[in-house]
Amino acid sequence: MDLAAAGQSVAMVERGMIGGTCINVACIPTKTLVNSARLLKTMRRAAEFGITGAESPAIDAVRLRHRKDDVVDTMVAGQRKSFLGSGMDLVIGEAKFVAERTVEVALDGGGTRTISGTNVVINTGMVPALPAIDGLAGASVLTSESILRIEELPSSIVVLGGGYIGAEYASMLHLMGVRVTVIHRGAHLLGREDADVGASVGEVFSRDGVDVRLGVEATRVTRAADGTVTVELSDGGTVSAGQILVALGREPVTAGLGLEKTGVHLTPRGFVEVDDHLRTTASGIWAAGDVAGSPQFTHASWNDYRILKANLAGGDLTTTDRLVPYCVFITPELGRVGLSEAEARAAGHNVRVARMPVSAIPRARTLGQLDGVWRAVVDRDTHLILGAALLSAEASEVIAVVQMAMLGGMRYQQVRDAVITHPTMAEGLQLLFSDAFLG
Ligand SMILES: Cc1cc2nc3c(=O)[nH]c(=O)nc-3n(C[C@H](O)[C@H](O)[C@H](O)COP(=O)(O)OP(=O)(O)OC[C@H]3O[C@@H](n4cnc5c(N)ncnc54)[C@H](O)[C@@H]3O)c2cc1C
Repeated sequence: MDLAAAGQSVAMVERGMIGGTCINVACIPTKTLVNSARLLKTMRRAAEFGITGAESPAIDAVRLRHRKDDVVDTMVAGQRKSFLGSGMDLVIGEAKFVAERTVEVALDGGGTRTISGTNVVINTGMVPALPAIDGLAGASVLTSESILRIEELPSSIVVLGGGYIGAEYASMLHLMGVRVTVIHRGAHLLGREDADVGASVGEVFSRDGVDVRLGVEATRVTRAADGTVTVELSDGGTVSAGQILVALGREPVTAGLGLEKTGVHLTPRGFVEVDDHLRTTASGIWAAGDVAGSPQFTHASWNDYRILKANLAGGDLTTTDRLVPYCVFITPELGRVGLSEAEARAAGHNVRVARMPVSAIPRARTLGQLDGVWRAVVDRDTHLILGAALLSAEASEVIAVVQMAMLGGMRYQQVRDAVITHPTMAEGLQLLFSDAFLG
C-alpha cells in the first residue's frame, strides 16, 4: 500500500480475505467474542459489585455473531478503502508462481491473469492443521476458523489442544456457559511457557470448571447419528460432547503456490526460508509473516512489513534480536515478553525469579479480579529484566510496560523505584521487583 501510494506499480493478490487472517478469522473476531464473554462473567457477578437488576444475563448467539461480524466487516471495509485509495491493483483470486517473479492468478470472477514484478513478496500466512487422527477427517470437526461461523453455541465441546488457540477458545466458551473439556498431550497447558506458568493457567481453568485432561492424546474420533462426538483417549478413557474444536497447530500456506517454479526453498518445518532481511533463496522474492516462520502474531507480521518496506528501498533492517511480546487472551489473560525462566537458564544467565500473587496488587482488589500470578526473570549480575509472564487482568497492557523497560535497557530497580500511577495494575511491577517477591 505504501509503495503504491508512493507511485510504484503494485499488485496485491488476495484469495478472499481482505485484511488477512487477523481481521477476518483470528485476532479481531476472537477478541470481540472474548470481550462479550468477559462482560457476561462480570454481569454474573453484578450483585457482588453492588448492582441489582442483572440477575440472569445470557448469551444471545445471533446478536453475538452480528456484533462480531460488524466489527470485522467495518475493519475489512476500512482496509479495502485504504488499499484501493493507495492506487494499488487489488486482484481477488488465487496466485501461483508460473516462473521466477511471475504469478498466474485464478481470478475470483473467472479467468486468469498473469502478473510479473521486479520484486515479489510471499505473505500467504497459515491455516489450521488437521492431524491424521483416526476418524477426525470424517467427524465434521470445527477449526479456529469454522467455529466463528456456527449458528448457535453448543452445550458442550471438546477442545483438542491446550496451546494458545485452544486455551483461548476453551476459556471464552466456558465463560459463555459451554461445558468444555480440553485434551492436551503435554504435562501443562501452553506448552511453550514455563511449567509453573502453564500450571497456574491450568489451576484457574480447573477451578472455574473447565475439565482439563493433561498428558493424553486423542486416538480416535467418532460422530454418532445424534451429532454427539466421542473422542477416545490414549489413556483408555473417552470424552463425549456436542462439538469438537481441533486446535492442534497451524501449517504454512505453501502448497499449490508453484514454488517449484522458483528458487524458493522451504525450511524442514515447511516455512519459506528467509534470511534476517526477509530475502528468500530466490533473487527478488521476499517473504513475510507467518509463512516466513516469523513469530505467529499479527504484530510480528506488521514488523516484517516495516523491515521489508525499508529493505525494498535498499535499506538494511533485520529481524535479528527483536523483542516480540504476546498475549494469550484467556481470562485472566497472560502477557508474555522476553525469555522464560527455562530459556534464560539455557542461555547461561545467572537468574533471579520474581513471583507474586496478583491479589497483592491494590488495583486487582478494586477490580475484584484477584486471579493469577506475575512472574519475571532478572539477570542477577546485570540486574536487567530478561522476561516476564503476567497472568492477570490487564496483563496485555502491562506487558508493554515491561517491554519498554527491556527495550530501554532499564535495570529492575529502576522499574521498582519509578513513580507509577496508583492504583493501576502497572503499579504492581514495583511490588513484583521488591525484596518481598524477588527471589
Ligand atoms: C484463532 C486465532 C487467534 C489469533 N489471535 C491473535 C492475537 O490475538 N494476536 C496476534 O498478534 N495474533 C493472533 N493470531 C495470529 C495472527 O492471526 C497471525 O499471526 C497473522 O494473521 C499472520 O499474518 P500474516 O501477514 O502472516 O498472514 P495472513 O494474515 O494469514 O494473510 C495471508 C493471506 O494470504 C492469502 N492467501 C494465501 N494463499 C494465497 C494465494 N495462493 N493467493 C492469494 N492469496 C492467498 C490468505 O487468504 C490470507 O488472507 C491468531 C490466530 C488465530 C488462528
